[in-house]
Amino acid sequence: MATGMVKSPPSKSRNKSRSRSRSRGRSTGKSSRSASKSPARTKSKSPSRTQSKSPSRSSRTRERTTVVKKEIVVTPTRQSTRIADLVDNEKKVSTRSSELLKSEVRNNMADKKDKAKPAAKTRATEFGGPVGALFITLSLPLVMYYINLACTKTKCTILELPKFPKNIWLLFDMEATLLFFGWLAFQAVLAMIPVGRVVEGLPLPSGKRLKYRCNGFFAFVASLIAFGICVYFNVPLVKMVHAKFFRIMTSAILFSAILSIFLYIKARAVPVTQLAPGGNTGNALYDFFIGHELNPRIGSFDLKFFCELRPGLIGWVILNFIFVLKAYQDTQAFPPALTLVVAFQTLYVADALWFEQWSVVLAIQDAILTTMDIIHDGFGFMLVFGDLAWVPFLYCLQPRFLLDNDPKLAWYSLAGIALLNVFGYMTFRRANSQKNEFRKNPFHPSLADLESIPTSSGKRLLVGGLWGMCRKPNYLGDLMMALAWSLPCGMSLIPYFYPVYFAILLVHRERRDGAQCQKKYGSSWNRYCERVPYRIIPYVY
Ligand code: NDP
Repeated sequence: MATGMVKSPPSKSRNKSRSRSRSRGRSTGKSSRSASKSPARTKSKSPSRTQSKSPSRSSRTRERTTVVKKEIVVTPTRQSTRIADLVDNEKKVSTRSSELLKSEVRNNMADKKDKAKPAAKTRATEFGGPVGALFITLSLPLVMYYINLACTKTKCTILELPKFPKNIWLLFDMEATLLFFGWLAFQAVLAMIPVGRVVEGLPLPSGKRLKYRCNGFFAFVASLIAFGICVYFNVPLVKMVHAKFFRIMTSAILFSAILSIFLYIKARAVPVTQLAPGGNTGNALYDFFIGHELNPRIGSFDLKFFCELRPGLIGWVILNFIFVLKAYQDTQAFPPALTLVVAFQTLYVADALWFEQWSVVLAIQDAILTTMDIIHDGFGFMLVFGDLAWVPFLYCLQPRFLLDNDPKLAWYSLAGIALLNVFGYMTFRRANSQKNEFRKNPFHPSLADLESIPTSSGKRLLVGGLWGMCRKPNYLGDLMMALAWSLPCGMSLIPYFYPVYFAILLVHRERRDGAQCQKKYGSSWNRYCERVPYRIIPYVY
C-alpha cells in the first residue's frame, strides 16, 4: 500500500469520525470541541432555543414521550418498536429545528460579514481571458446555427456552407418567442410548487448556506404529462415547434444574452462574498462571460439552480418527443434508431433530475448541489447560454437528423449500440454515486473496500473502485453514452459533433477541476495523480 493511502477503517471507529466530520461541515468556524458534537448532543445543549422556535412541537414531543413511557410497560414487542420509531422521529424533528435555527444564525452572521468586506479581484483567467470570452460569446451562437442549418431534410454535410436565410426575420417571430417564454414561465411555476424537500447547499465563502427546493423530477414528470395532454387534445404543438425550431432557438439565444447582461448588472450591486471566485476580474466582458455573481437570486428563487436542470434539459426531451411524434405522424411508425436515441437521452435527463430531487430525500448523495457549476462557477453567459440555448437546441441534433435521414441500421447494430449506452450509463452512474456517497459518508459500508488518500483539509480522495481506474470515470461513462447517441446516425459526420465537442469540453473541464483540486489538496493531489495516472480513458489518456 502506498504511503498515506488507507483502506476505510473498521466500523467501530468509523461511527466516531463520521459524526465528527459531519458536525465540522455544519459548524464552520467553531472550535473543534463544539464541531465534534453530534446533532443529538447539540439538541440537548440548547433546548430553550429549540422551544422558542417551535414551542408547540416541543410540548407535543414531551407529551408523546410520556405516552411512550407508559405504553412500553403494556406492550413491549411490536408496539415498542413503533414507539422507538416515534421517539426517534421526534428526535429528528427537534434536531432539524435546532439545525434550522443554527443555520439562520450562521446566515445572519454571514450577511453582516458580507457588508463589512472590501472587494477582492480575481487575477487568474480561463478560456483565453477577455479575448477568448469575446470570441466564444460570438462564435457559439454561430456554431449553433451552422450545425443545425447544415443538417436539413435533403442533406447533412459539414463540407458545404449552409444556406443562412437572406431575410434575418425568418429566424425570429413573436409566436416562437411567446412559446419560449411560455415554456420558461411554466417551468418557473413548477419549480416554485412546494413539492420536494428544501435543502441547504454547500457553505459559501461567507459561511452562508443557501436553501434549494429540489423538485426537478416532479417538474420533469409534470412536463411530460402536460405534453401528453396537449397531444391528446390535438394542440398543434408538434407541428408548430417542428416548423418553428429555428425561431424558438433564436428566442433562446437572444434571451440568454439579455439575461446575462441583466445578471452582470445585478452582480455589481452585491457584496463581494457573493461573487464567483473566478468571475471578479474587473473586466466587464470576462466577468459577464464567466459569471460575476455565484448564486444570483430573485427573492428565494435561485436563477442558476433553476436554469441548470429545468427549462433546457426538460426542453431537450420535449423537443426529442416532438421529433418522434413527427416521424410517427409522417410514417405511422416509430423509427427504431430515432426511438432508441430518444430513449437513451430521456434516461440521461431523467437520471439528472431524479438524483437532484430524490437523492436528497433518500439522503444518498448531494448530486447537483455538489457539481462544479453550482459550487464554483458564476452564473454568466457561459452557463446561461449553455443551459437555455446550447443544450436543448444542439443536444437534440441526432434525433433531428434521424427524423429526416435514417440510415436504417440492422437490429444487431442497434443492439450493440444499446449495450454501449447501458455500459456507459452504468459507469457514469456508479462513479457519480460512489463519489457522492463518499463525500457524504466516507465510512459507508458499501465503500468499506475502497482505498482513499487523506488530505490536509480533512477530506479524503478515493483511489479505489472506478476512481482508481482513472481520475474521471464519470466523464468516461458520459463519453460512452455520447458516442452511443451518434452511432445510430451511421456515417454522416455532423451528428458526431456532439461526442467530439463533448470530449473537448470534458478534457478541458477535467483540467480545470484538476487545477482547483491541486489548489485545494496540494501534495495529496499530486500523490493521487501519481497513483491514478490516467485522466479519463484508462491506458489512453
Ligand atoms: P465531478 O462530479 O467529477 O466533481 C469534481 C469534484 O469531485 C472535485 O472538484 C472534487 O471536489 C471531487 N473529487 C474529484 N476527484 C475525487 C476523488 N478521487 N475522490 C473524491 N472526490 C473527488 O465533476 P463535474 O461536476 O464536472 O461533473 C458531474 C457530472 O456531470 C459528471 O458525470 C459529468 O460527466 C457530468 N457533466 C455533464 C455535462 C453535460 O453537458 N452533459 C457537462 C459537465 C458535466 P471535492 O474534493 O471538493 O469534493
